[in-house]
Amino acid sequence: MYKYFQVIIVSLILVSCKSTEEFTGFSYDPPDVTNTTDKVIQEQARRTIGVDSPKVWISNEFDGARMNDVYAYGDSTVEVFVAPENGPINNSPWYAFKIWSDTVRMAKIRLNYLDATHRYLPKLQSWVQPDSMWKQQMELPVQYDSATGTATFDVLLAPDPIIISGQPLHTSSDLLSTLTHRGVLDNSFVEMKEAGKSKLGRPVWELEITEVDPNEKGPVLAIVSRQHPPEVTGYLASLIFLEELAADNALAREFRETFVVKAFPMLNPDGVDMGHWRHNAGGVDLNRDWENFNQPETRIVKETLEPLKNSDLRRMFYAIDFHSTNENIFYPINEEVKTNPDNITQQWVERIQEDNEEVVFNIEPFDTSSPIAKNWFYHAFGIDALTYEVDDQISDEDLEQVSRSAAKSLMRVLLENWDKTSVEN
Ligand SMILES: [Zn+2]
Repeated sequence: MYKYFQVIIVSLILVSCKSTEEFTGFSYDPPDVTNTTDKVIQEQARRTIGVDSPKVWISNEFDGARMNDVYAYGDSTVEVFVAPENGPINNSPWYAFKIWSDTVRMAKIRLNYLDATHRYLPKLQSWVQPDSMWKQQMELPVQYDSATGTATFDVLLAPDPIIISGQPLHTSSDLLSTLTHRGVLDNSFVEMKEAGKSKLGRPVWELEITEVDPNEKGPVLAIVSRQHPPEVTGYLASLIFLEELAADNALAREFRETFVVKAFPMLNPDGVDMGHWRHNAGGVDLNRDWENFNQPETRIVKETLEPLKNSDLRRMFYAIDFHSTNENIFYPINEEVKTNPDNITQQWVERIQEDNEEVVFNIEPFDTSSPIAKNWFYHAFGIDALTYEVDDQISDEDLEQVSRSAAKSLMRVLLENWDKTSVEN
């Protein structure tokens, strides 16, 4: 009898442990997403295609571009075909192309996606002097055809090229200038270094922001962003966070004198520059690789942060992983899961909502079984962590306002919790 019970207990334990090993993906994941060994990707041919009369030119010969083919139908309709890097893949069809004409003319552009339906509203960007950069001018309204999943829009073309893309174009080489422009880099307390190289050899940057003496104790806030290339609003939110953490005000100074920030704002530079829909150059969803670490980009974060476990002076305290989706939503770790410190996210999210009453946020707690960044932070360090998802249609004003106020309330919540920890110690 005793033996019999023992068997039952052992098998119960096995069953409850199994959920981690057998996690196969979220409801929106394609099959086999947690197998993160290298998969073959289809590289787009980089070229400039001329169609129709007067001529329309379309090019994907720049970083971040995605345009696989073009056809003209004689009625001023130009169809742009867009295919993902490999499949199966989530419905996140990124596109970006340059377009111009020999003469000023209207064109009707139809976006046609391979095995996907239209998602991102076209953003029109033009080359702006004296800034010497592509700047978003407007969003172009589309006619969506639900039967085919295509989207059609009209645009005025001229001999000067414009870029049309699913979200504003922010490639890996823009990171440095954007951080400089935002006043993050020109500070003695900010160090930007190459933490490692992506699969194709692009730098994976790590930013350290702190005024804690290297010989003093300091808790660590970790920030990860841009695992998924089209998720630009989440990426921009992470840059606004860095700007606030590096700001010249009393709160940010107190935070920097207490905390150490370690940020990886552009974790998938290959995917971003190759115009991928979701994966890295290994054809893998990086945010399913935080258990097996088959890809160099996830491994870089693990190898940079894991040594902190043995540090007497640095202690991992909280982590945020920035993404975008079709709503503002926080995915915290379930309140019932004991973390140390505990329920930071719950304290913080309450303040974000109080400070931004007009903005809608949703909260959906999860268990810790999936191989995503947040759960690695919990499993590796026992800390609380958050997947922070920004609405991919959020206005520039709301993005600025929410990100700034959220960064400020985060600093307050973390300082309060560190004080509590210090008292208990
Ligand atoms: Zn994402």
